[in-house]
Amino acid sequence: MGGLAVACLLAACVVTTAARAQATAQAEAAHRRAELAHLPANAAQRLFGLERMPAPGPADAIGTYTRGCLEGAVQLPADGPDWEVMRPSRDRAWGHPALILFIERLAARAARFAGWPGLLVGDIAQPRGGPMLTGHESHNLGLEADIWLTPMPSRRLSRAARDEMPAIDLVQADGLAVDPATWRPADRSLLELAAKSPGVDRIFVNAAIKKALCREAGGDRAWLRRIRPWWGHMRHFHLRLACPAGDTACRNPVPPPPPGDGCGRQLAWWFAPARLHPPPSAPIKPPISLKSLPAACAVLVRNLR
Ligand SMILES: [Zn+2]
Repeated sequence: MGGLAVACLLAACVVTTAARAQATAQAEAAHRRAELAHLPANAAQRLFGLERMPAPGPADAIGTYTRGCLEGAVQLPADGPDWEVMRPSRDRAWGHPALILFIERLAARAARFAGWPGLLVGDIAQPRGGPMLTGHESHNLGLEADIWLTPMPSRRLSRAARDEMPAIDLVQADGLAVDPATWRPADRSLLELAAKSPGVDRIFVNAAIKKALCREAGGDRAWLRRIRPWWGHMRHFHLRLACPAGDTACRNPVPPPPPGDGCGRQLAWWFAPARLHPPPSAPIKPPISLKSLPAACAVLVRNLR
């Protein structure tokens, strides 16, 4: 088992393939074809990855962030007053209505209070949530979203530009610190605004970004507890909402972050050479069995089997 996988067991298991989060449409399509070529017909990634319509009914997040699904998803509109959806060819702008509303409000508040001209929103979830053919281990419940740390341009992006435009890297090549040429006070303001918002369980960022936040935060540091380091995440942050109160089948098996701001020794762990440069994750993921998801999730893709 590689170092990355071990750490995945120790901490909150999220995006092990975060480096691909901003892959262009061509690279993403090739990766998708490769996954489809090897996965068995009943693999959960295939069944959920090919589903194009949301499951009807009231919103319900079922299972866990890495083994779950979503009923009653809604789609974040491609354009809003304060946001644009990126990588539209992936069709991953679906989410729990609580998250979609959260993003719309965060975008408006970021424009008003955090110096952001608008947010570029990356992957949220598939129409019925569930495991994905490419990328994320999590994002199954429609309660997680990747928000780019690249400001929305002043002119609306074309669909092609949204599929191809690169995101800004905020971290130095050695991974030890943010890049002073790209890290801005507005990045800190946005992360603080998001972390202070009710309903947030955690936010994942690169350890170098967490280090910058630890250094730059003033006396009000309680929000830092919700900002957790993870590999990748140099160009976006991963927002995770807690299970909505009414979603009784939603589970978060990961305990809340330990008390404190998560700076100091907890953060230093991430800068050991073996963790800064872990072995790459397998390019092709093993199939996920539908049986490893709640039975209520298998029902959502029943017609495809
Ligand atoms: Zn993510």
